[in-house]
Amino acid sequence: MQCFPENRSWRALSATVTAGAECAHCGSRDDLVAHHRIPRRYGGLDVLSNLEPVCRSCHPRVEQESIAHAKLVWERPERPETAWIPRRRPRMIPPY
Ligand SMILES: [Zn+2]
Repeated sequence: MQCFPENRSWRALSATVTAGAECAHCGSRDDLVAHHRIPRRYGGLDVLSNLEPVCRSCHPRVEQESIAHAKLVWERPERPETAWIPRRRPRMIPPY
């Protein structure tokens, strides 16, 4: 599979992000996970520039912040299955 040069395996990526790192939020070195700065469901990619080491106790909070932030900047959905399309068809009101 050579389609995406950045598309290394998640295991390798998260190992690279967390190896010898410390939590970007509290500085802990224990139980680090690779956190998506832009969540995947909002178009964030599995690339090093979108990942940061965060410990497991910070991760849920950091994740919520990322999602909240992504919602603010997320204006042009490119994937139809995640797009929310307001489909309110104006009802014709019978004149009688
Ligand atoms: Zn932490």
